[in-house]
Amino acid sequence: MGKRHLYIVLFIIAILGLSFIQYQYFRIGLNLAGVQFNQKMGEAVKEIKQGLYQRNDLTYLVGTVMAENEANFLLSMDSVQDATNYFMDEFLKQKLLQNGVKAEYSYSLYDQDSTHFLTSEESFSKKDKILSYPVALDGYLPGLINKRVTLELQFKNVNRYFLSQLNGLTIPSIIFLIVIIVVILWVYRAFYLQNNLIVTTNEFINNLTHELKTPVFSIGVASKILEEKGHKDTKELVGIIRAQVEKLKTQIEKVLELGNIEERKGFVKHIELDVKPILDHVVQSFEQQARLNEFSFESDIQGDSFLILGDAYHLENAISSLIENAIKYSGDQTDIVFSAFKKGDKLLISVVDKGIGINQEDIKKIFEKYYRVVDGDLHNVKGHGLGLHYVKRIVHLHKGKIKVESKIGLGSTFTVILPLK
Ligand code: ADP
Repeated sequence: MGKRHLYIVLFIIAILGLSFIQYQYFRIGLNLAGVQFNQKMGEAVKEIKQGLYQRNDLTYLVGTVMAENEANFLLSMDSVQDATNYFMDEFLKQKLLQNGVKAEYSYSLYDQDSTHFLTSEESFSKKDKILSYPVALDGYLPGLINKRVTLELQFKNVNRYFLSQLNGLTIPSIIFLIVIIVVILWVYRAFYLQNNLIVTTNEFINNLTHELKTPVFSIGVASKILEEKGHKDTKELVGIIRAQVEKLKTQIEKVLELGNIEERKGFVKHIELDVKPILDHVVQSFEQQARLNEFSFESDIQGDSFLILGDAYHLENAISSLIENAIKYSGDQTDIVFSAFKKGDKLLISVVDKGIGINQEDIKKIFEKYYRVVDGDLHNVKGHGLGLHYVKRIVHLHKGKIKVESKIGLGSTFTVILPLK
């Protein structure tokens, strides 16, 4: 699993974990709201019991309804019941509110024989989830009819009521969770787009420099020959061409350097490919150069195909860089031998020169970025100290190794060892 996938999985786990924790908090909140509600109801029930204990205006009215004592009133019994319901409702509402209970309720007053004396206008259907508080009354009212009298308070959908009390916490936490998810998705998208842009830019830079390198190189060689063999009148013009070609070469190196700085994971492809045609192509172009520049370039490629997993473009660049270095650091005698052969499950590619050589101290450092040997007349040779750093990186990305053997004044051998498929 790639790093990016790991982060995505971690992100999903974190969000799921956070949601689960929120849900648990939410349940705890609901339970706590239930406990709090019971406490408030305990107090309210106590006060209701007290309020209905003695004979007072309300209990007298209730008692009248219970005893169906119509004679005491000139009004009809229905009106008495309505009035009693009204006062009872007011009384209960006040007691509940005083104790902080704002939930919808209904009530009914009945005796042990289930004779219902009073019921609130609103009674809940059986479908509703109902929480009941039966309050066994003492004192005046049970004494009046010599039976146990109960006032039952009912609350419907209490969970919804608790929820409304928790909304101040649940809704913001859901909103924040959604905001986190949206922001992270947006950042991920921006990162993904930017990454794509970098990869495309790199590919463009690599292709462009590759396309430019060959013609500039050919112009350089051709103008050098013209300079040597050309007419006196044209010498100055050819000189300008050569100077400009050198400038262009430096610019190309700089662009390549830029491409290397922006290197990202995945910039080297791992495709099954045959290295043989790549090597043939490299040999062909250096043989042509050797003919034009009159130096010795020998090659010995043993084998018909060398299958590896890799990137043709970068491999060709890396091998060419080694040969270019061999030419650059050959001094007066340019004599290069290029060879490639299989050894077990490895492919060995080596570039041997009889040039100026590198001392043991510098060999350790030549693969470092920007490192150049500053010695003797080396400063005549142009470069940025990036070539070998690039070669080593490419070889490593192909799971290979690079070895150097060198003796000052005798020459150097660079060997690339690549695992075959
Ligand atoms: P550049 O050639 O641009 O300076 P490189 O990274 O290709 O950068 O090489 C680093 C240094 O290694 C060079 O400056 C040179 O001193 C030394 N070097 C590389 N190849 C050879 C070689 N074939 N013979 C002698 N010295 C070499």
